[in-house]
This record gives sequence, C-alpha cells and structure tokens, in this order.
Amino acid sequence: MSRGPQGSLGDSLAAQADRLSHCVHCGFCLPACPTYVRLGDEADSPRGRLHLMGAVAEGRLDAGSDAFQRHIDRCLGCRACEPVCPSGVEYGLLLERAREAAARARKPPLAARLLLGLVARPRAFAHWMRMSRLLRWTRLPTLLARILPGGRTTSGVRLALGMLAASISTGRFLRGAPPSGPGGTAERRSPPTRAPADAPPARSKGRAAILTGCVQDQLFRRVNAATRRVLEMNGWEVTEVGSQGCCGALHAHAGALPLATRLAKRNLEAFRREDPDRIVANAAGCGAAMRGYPHLVEGAGTEWAEVSGWFSRRVRDVTELLADEGATPVVGGELRLRVAYDPPCHLLHGQGVAEPPLTVLRSIPGVEVVELAGGEECCGGAGIYGLTHPELGGWIGGDKVAAVLDSKVDALVTGNPGCAMQIGAGLKMAGSSIRVVHPVEFLDESYRRAGFYDRRVRPTRGRRRSV
Ligand code: SF4
Ligand code: SF4
Repeated sequence: MSRGPQGSLGDSLAAQADRLSHCVHCGFCLPACPTYVRLGDEADSPRGRLHLMGAVAEGRLDAGSDAFQRHIDRCLGCRACEPVCPSGVEYGLLLERAREAAARARKPPLAARLLLGLVARPRAFAHWMRMSRLLRWTRLPTLLARILPGGRTTSGVRLALGMLAASISTGRFLRGAPPSGPGGTAERRSPPTRAPADAPPARSKGRAAILTGCVQDQLFRRVNAATRRVLEMNGWEVTEVGSQGCCGALHAHAGALPLATRLAKRNLEAFRREDPDRIVANAAGCGAAMRGYPHLVEGAGTEWAEVSGWFSRRVRDVTELLADEGATPVVGGELRLRVAYDPPCHLLHGQGVAEPPLTVLRSIPGVEVVELAGGEECCGGAGIYGLTHPELGGWIGGDKVAAVLDSKVDALVTGNPGCAMQIGAGLKMAGSSIRVVHPVEFLDESYRRAGFYDRRVRPTRGRRRSV
C-alpha cells in the first residue's frame, strides 16, 4: 500500500526526484536494452523502469508491488542505456536506489542475503572459497557442467559448477600457445623486439595500489599477480594496501546500500592511508563501483565527500594505466593466438573504457584480435543474475556463447571475473575448449616468453611498439 513519498518504502527513490526528472521519455535507450530487446515489454525497458521508479518516488506505486519488484529485479544493471541517453540519466545509480526500495519492501531471497553477507565477511568468505578451490581442483565441476542434463531443477547447479570450472588457471593454456616447441622453455620463447640486455631501467611513473577484491583474490589470484608484474614492467611502483576489502559492488547492485557504504568507507580509509598516485582495478565491476564511491557516501558529511572524490579521481582500470593517453605497453614475446575481446559492461558503459584493453592485446606480437558479434551486449552474468534468472540470463548468455563459438577463436578476452565465469561456464557446458582470459594474463605471458622476468631486466619505453 502506498504511503506517499515521505516516510514511504520509496524513500531512497524520493531523494532522487531530481535525477529521475532528467528522463525525457525519448526512447533512444530501448534498442540498447537486452531485456527489452528480448521481451519486448516497455516495463522491461530503461524508460519503463524509470517510469516505475518515478511512480514509487511520488507515492503512486508501492515498492512492494509485483510490477515494481518484477521489472526492477529483471534489470541486468548492465548500464547499456546510459551512454545512449541524450539526457545523461544516471540509470545505474537510480537502479541501486530502486533496488534498495524494493529490498526494504520485500525481503530478497534467503540465498541472496546469505551470499551478500558471506562476501562481506572476509574470513568466512575465504573459508568458503578454499572449499570451492578444492572442488575445482578435482576437475569434477568441469565434468559435471558438461554432462549434467539441462532443465529447470538442474540448470542453476550446472551453471554454478560451470562458473567454478571456468575460473581454473589459464597458465597451462597460455604457456602451451604457439610458438612452442617440444623442448624446454628456451624453445618456447620468442625473442623480444629489441635486445633488453643493456637497457636502463624505466623511470618510475608513480605508485599504484591494486584492489585485490574478494572473488578476484580467491578465484583469480593469478590475475592479481599478473597485474602486479605487468605494472612493474611498465614502470609503476606497486604498493600494498593491507586493510582493504570487498569493494561493495555486489551489495550496491542488490540494493544493500548501508552494507555497500560500510565496505566503501573501509576501502576509502585503507587507500587514503597509503596515498597512492593511482588505484588500480582489474575487475570491471569493482572499478565502476569504486568510481561511484562519492554517490555511496552522499550525505555522510564533507570529510567523506572529500576523500571519496580524491579516491574516485585516482581509480583506473589496469589497461588504462598500460595503454591510455598515448601510452602503449612495453612489448614482449610472441603469442600466436586468435582472440576475441568481450568488453565488460561495467568497463565499457560504466567507466567509458573502450580502447585500452584492445590496445593492450594488439601490442602483443602474434595476437590476432577479431571482432565479436554483439560484443557490446551484456553476457547475462550481471553479478549472480545468471543464477537468479536462469531463463532470461540463459537466453542472453546463450547468445553470447553462440557468438564466441562462431568467431572460431582460441580464447575470449574479458576483464571481469563475473563475465569470465558466466561466458566460461557457457563454453564449458557447450563442450568447447575456448578459454576465457584476462588481458593482463596475455601481456604477462608475453613478458615471460621474452625472458623479462628471468633476467630481472626492465625494458625501456624505447621497446614499445606503436599500435
Ligand atoms: S541496465 Fe541494462 S538491462 Fe537494465 S534497463 Fe539499462 S540496458 Fe536495460
Ligand atoms: S534515452 Fe534517456 S531520456 Fe530517453 S527514455 Fe531513455 S533514459 Fe529517458
């Protein structure tokens, strides 16, 4: 039952009345929306959802109503509607407030609440992830994801197992990539573009602190390690930030804003103490969330506004540090692979980072980058969307997997753990051997092949290749 905008379940939206008013109902965003394109229902479009949010903010609709709950819940949060909007509607931020209103009106499912609580508790989460890694090590998830029958009851389990299987190390795959010979490591390496032996060390570009993350730290620790090595090789001094934690992205997307704000404040304090020149994300969802910290601490006082502004100005995706504003990555050894790049929504739409990951890939000798049909569309992962919306998520994800299979590549490259696991799971369930790899893992392997790590030689900017 509606109780008016003030004191109602729509409080969090009522405070956004000004932002909601920016929508001029032009409908330019409709063709960009994966749920509208598939379902053809205005209420499942950005414009329709904004209309529902406005109704709740004005007290004309109850946030607990079926219509509000269903259509806000069905949104992927991919933010593909933002860059195409001529009025600059901040849809992602409004969706978080709408989800908060929806969660206050009706408790989210127990499994979702348990998952969010677990991710926010580092020790409990680490314990759970240890068991997950053990299960992954047995290779059972790979087998079960392939052989379990699809169906209403098994599809969630199958996808979860596939996601775990997809997080498996890419080391053997990358090291086995051509050029390789039957002999030892020397034969597997190709020479660097120019001799590094007498090269002076590169000048330090500044201090960079990496967000190690939660899922990234537990299931993709190798990506964090590769990020560190690659940044150091490109002249950044990498500094540790010990007391950092989960960025809060999953919580904010689910509407658990008080918890997301608490996690954001912990990171703001931790990184402020170290005072790095750049704060580096190698997970697109985390990077987008961290750039949005000023919104999360809105109303918390001028001190938080100042520190969150300082923080968000320093956040960069790792590929931006390597290949933005005229910079190009140091060139390493050859890696003869055909790859397709799938831009994570929270990198492309959420942060506006389009070219740097491609520049990184094209800087690696031998790598052929092909275009992926529908690459700009969401993969259907969207946090845990694939698990909570098996049918629609499976439909959207299935289209992405079909495009990857059609591209006939050796590997798919993407810079977000959620996307890597969603697409990787789809590929595993389809029985494909195409691997999903982070851009820095390619660069890292290329440097290893060039012998940079063995020789402890820092290549100079002189060995960069223009791309
Ligand atoms: S965030 Fe994505 S799914 Fe949601 S309304 Fe925008 S385009 Fe559609
Ligand atoms: S493009 Fe922007 S202004 Fe137009 S309907 Fe979509 S959200 Fe509203």
